Amino acid sequence: MIPGKIIRALSGFYYVKDDKNLKVYECKGRGILRKENITPVVGDNVYISITDEKSQKGMIEEVLERKNFLIRPPISNVTKAVLVFAVKTPDPNFSLIDRFIVLAEREGLEIIICFNKIDLLDEADYRDKMAIYQRAGYKVIPVSSKLGTGIEELKIELKGNVTVVAGPSGAGKSSLINQIDENLKLKTSDISQKSGQGRHTTRFAQLIEIDKDSLVADTPGFSSLTLEILEDTELKEYFIEFHEYDHDCKFGFKCIHENEPGCMVKDAVSKNEISLERYESYIQLLGEIKESKKRR
Ligand code: GDP
Ligand code: ZN
Repeated sequence: MIPGKIIRALSGFYYVKDDKNLKVYECKGRGILRKENITPVVGDNVYISITDEKSQKGMIEEVLERKNFLIRPPISNVTKAVLVFAVKTPDPNFSLIDRFIVLAEREGLEIIICFNKIDLLDEADYRDKMAIYQRAGYKVIPVSSKLGTGIEELKIELKGNVTVVAGPSGAGKSSLINQIDENLKLKTSDISQKSGQGRHTTRFAQLIEIDKDSLVADTPGFSSLTLEILEDTELKEYFIEFHEYDHDCKFGFKCIHENEPGCMVKDAVSKNEISLERYESYIQLLGEIKESKKRR
């Protein structure tokens, strides 16, 4: 058996790149995986047996334990998330940014926020929006995939990582990925006869190799994200700027920073040490989770 990684999944076939030869094998999953209730996903590290070397076909025998798992898109073993939003066309949806941050924090990912299409606005018009997330503790990279601005800085962030690039449709994810790897079109057309890998199939998650140890997942765009899988008590964990204050709340770890007296998070908001936008977003998401719990 040889070790490899699933770089693409499509209608029951898994395209597995072996760790050594860097060949891509078209694989099926062994029946045993179904019995064990394991559905392989892109990003999985696996063991495969080769059933036909010439036509590069194989069988997935084992799926190694996942470090993490994202539901949307279904992808595992990600180390970083780049969240792409346009500063304009379409206007950024801050609730959606916060939702994504929550889900990515929950999976323990490092998060980078990319504000794309800065060629469409003066800096003064997006500076405040960037500051909301910088103040929360996130790295924000202003980019323009049209002009190539900020691409080098973004590339440095991808180095040595398995990065998921996510964001709503139209934010410029595909344009950005094309900028990151100028050879991408060439590379993918090279591989495509064998692996079926192609650029414009973002309906399915796939991993694209930027260099030997850097992979990027091109993902389908989303327009909404539900947090219904969360508990209301855990949401605060994923608003990282609260952590500096929350141990001093009167009700300690029981405080969910909503209506409790002696809440130091609320105190920090009133002193403008935590941004009001983020706190209001927290309260809104908390309400949604509580509502959905009632219906459960
Ligand atoms: P995706 O749906 O997130 O993959 O977005 P695309 O990469 O398909 O881009 C959506 C639209 O935005 C396209 O018409 C792009 O040409 C345009 N676009 C992407 N990046 C930029 C940018 O930096 N500046 C401007 N002005 N337009 C951009
Ligand atoms: Zn509190």
